[in-house]
Amino acid sequence: MLHKKHVIRASLLLFLIVLSLTSYRIVSFLQGSAAIEQEWKAYKPDPIVNFGSTKHLSILPLVNWHTDNGALKGEAGVSYLIKTDNNTILFDVGFNKNQESPSPLEHNMKQLAVTLDSIDTIFMSHAHLDHSGGQQWVNKNTFSIGLEQTDLAGKDIYAATHTTYPNNKVNVIPEATVIGPGIASLGAISRQLFLGRIEEQALVINVENKGLVFIVGCGHQTVPKILTRAQQIFNEDIYGIVGDLHYPIPEGRLSLLGINLQKYLASGEGPHNPISFETMDNELNMLQELGLRFIALGGHDTSDEAIEYFNTKFGDGYRHVKVGDWIEIAK
Ligand SMILES: [Zn+2]
Ligand SMILES: [Zn+2]
Repeated sequence: MLHKKHVIRASLLLFLIVLSLTSYRIVSFLQGSAAIEQEWKAYKPDPIVNFGSTKHLSILPLVNWHTDNGALKGEAGVSYLIKTDNNTILFDVGFNKNQESPSPLEHNMKQLAVTLDSIDTIFMSHAHLDHSGGQQWVNKNTFSIGLEQTDLAGKDIYAATHTTYPNNKVNVIPEATVIGPGIASLGAISRQLFLGRIEEQALVINVENKGLVFIVGCGHQTVPKILTRAQQIFNEDIYGIVGDLHYPIPEGRLSLLGINLQKYLASGEGPHNPISFETMDNELNMLQELGLRFIALGGHDTSDEAIEYFNTKFGDGYRHVKVGDWIEIAK
């Protein structure tokens, strides 16, 4: 009898602890979201004029969910190689979910004959584990291409929030910034996720006779805010988007203890209100109304169902992101 009483008491205590922790998370989520909306309304970015252009733009997905062939490794992370007239940029460094050596990024680079020597710039979209080479590096405000941090001396590294790298000074650029001829960052756009606040920046490339191409990492910024910010800063028309826009509808790619992380904790308006098909459709209409000519969508945080929907809606303007499959925007 006494034993039963103890069990009831312990269960009640556990229930109260879980309840107060959840309530705390919900309150900080709501307060954080409200603060970000206020900041967003008050912020007026400086325009960027005449930042040059590039004749050529080719993008090679190095890490993502889908792959071009069985010799390449896919995972729920992101890395792109971006080539312009003057620069070769590594955009994010993958997940390395199993913390293996070589990492999927290193493995795919070798398969695709991409050497670190050929890369002059590293652009980090945001400090999430699936873009930084694993949580252990995010915890230390850094990132890693492999299981150990390789020497990146002499490369220009850009991040939107405080980031360090051994023997290299990381350029922290929260505001929209020109980083090369025809190459700029869109600046950090904040988002309150249930997981916590995140600042994400997209890369913007001005392609001669075409317009702006955006490369997006996770898409936490949301499409409406990316478009609004772009119109505040740039004069040029938007030609296309390459990257990942976070549509885990009906389900995302990552689960923990049966909870779909991308769907409930990293998108939408909190766990009780995940992102809906209607929201995605509205955002897609927004892109179409803008006259967007080209979209290549990655699948690391977007479902196959959502990808198929983009495909039917955009038709010829749609390209699927697959590791190892070059996206030639301007040859
Ligand atoms: Zn991501
Ligand atoms: Zn993310």
